[in-house]
Amino acid sequence: MSTPVPIQNSFSAENLLRPNIRKLVPYSSARSEYKGSAKVFLDANENAFGSPFEKNYNRYPDPLQLDLKDKLGKIKGLAIQNIFLGNGSDEAIDILFRAFCVPGKDNVIICPPTYGMYEVSAHINDVEVQKVNLIPEEFQLNTKAILDAVNVNTKLIFVCCPNNPTGNGLKWLAIEQLLNSFNGIVIVDEAYINYAAYRSLIPELLNYPNLIILQTLSKAWGMAGIRLGMAFASEIIIDIMNKIKPPYNISSATQQIALSTLKNLDQVNEWVKITVKEREQLKEDLKQLPFVVKVYPSEANFILTRVTQPDAIYHYLVLKGIITRNRSKVELCEGCLRITVGTPEENKTLLESLRNYC
Ligand code: PMP
Repeated sequence: MSTPVPIQNSFSAENLLRPNIRKLVPYSSARSEYKGSAKVFLDANENAFGSPFEKNYNRYPDPLQLDLKDKLGKIKGLAIQNIFLGNGSDEAIDILFRAFCVPGKDNVIICPPTYGMYEVSAHINDVEVQKVNLIPEEFQLNTKAILDAVNVNTKLIFVCCPNNPTGNGLKWLAIEQLLNSFNGIVIVDEAYINYAAYRSLIPELLNYPNLIILQTLSKAWGMAGIRLGMAFASEIIIDIMNKIKPPYNISSATQQIALSTLKNLDQVNEWVKITVKEREQLKEDLKQLPFVVKVYPSEANFILTRVTQPDAIYHYLVLKGIITRNRSKVELCEGCLRITVGTPEENKTLLESLRNYC
């Protein structure tokens, strides 16, 4: 990427680093020490005879996943140096805590109701979580309250856009204000971006060295099973993440399957189109049901809906063999179910069951 434009704060990823990570000498794997072509590999204590399963599975995978990053970079408009790949975005989230937050000292800000792993990952790493709720009902960021909560030990702010479980997008103006005013890192989780009417913030990486964007192959790409998450950020941040990750965090199988998957952009776009159409229809159909109090706007592949008897409806659907996510005990989502948009047939089955609920 070209030279970043100066922002209004004095952000420095190096200064933000945990002291032990600043000093860390990363593990040097056999495969990262040698670059080039050779005939005989006697450097990594692998089984030289082969693999009982797939050719080359006896060999360790490329630790930096360069072929896959090259292909992804072309799709996303990014250089390899600006891409980190993780065992799901959940691994990228965990690595950010380990890179920037001193356990028992530092804190992060999350904006509930939101994706649960930010808090769980913080707790695993013994990092304090400050919760600044989204504004009730509209589910937008309360920027002033977030910035008021920032203190010298606040290292990361997590925002999710489109947000899970509410489904809405967040206003760019609010995210921009955080990026400009916060001296730490703002992580924008775009797991559901393919379903949104607006574009990814990837181009903003040029303007904001304190921005990290998370995406995943688990949603629109239909590859939750292979576990491949992505973080996009400045070269400095990506280098730090690579230093901390387990050397071979992405298996050969995942790298190969992901490479083949990326050839199916047209199929993915077609699924996204159908899902968005189905989502809009499902919203309208849900609104007609007598026990539906509210259907929230969604830019994702799920819908948050408030119903009169969330627990009863949830269990009724379970008996019909349909599993939704009961979010009725989540603060600001009281009475709500989160429903993933399925295939047209699945959505029809859901609606038929709901219409028979009384
Ligand atoms: N971010 C959000 C907002 C999510 O909803 C999820 C999964 N539900 C993830 C990240 C995790 O993605 P991955 O499968 O890549 O770990």
